[in-house]
Amino acid sequence: MKIIIIGGSFGGVSCAREARRLYPDAEILLIEKKPILGLFQAACYC
Ligand SMILES: Cc1cc2nc3c(=O)[nH]c(=O)nc-3n(C[C@H](O)[C@H](O)[C@H](O)COP(=O)(O)OP(=O)(O)OC[C@H]3O[C@@H](n4cnc5c(N)ncnc54)[C@H](O)[C@@H]3O)c2cc1C
Repeated sequence: MKIIIIGGSFGGVSCAREARRLYPDAEILLIEKKPILGLFQAACYC
């Protein structure tokens, strides 16, 4: 399964974490147009 999430702010990061919990084997791609995710530098691989 491949899950693509657009937007890496609070909603997107939360969605990615929940998707990982529910689907441990899924390929999850989180796309953010800014150089940061949420409050963190863009180096988050879910
Ligand atoms: C000035 C201000 C102060 C706030 N203060 C508080 C507070 O103190 N406490 C609180 O609980 N809430 C606060 N909020 C509300 C809080 O910021 C929002 O509820 C929360 O950020 C919503 O998160 P979200 O992930 O749904 O959307 P957003 O934070 O809007 O995230 C959307 C993300 O999608 C990205 N994006 C958009 N289009 C694309 C695209 N085409 N491709 C890739 N990425 C894209 C954007 O860059 C962004 O990172 C505040 C809001 C504002 C504006």
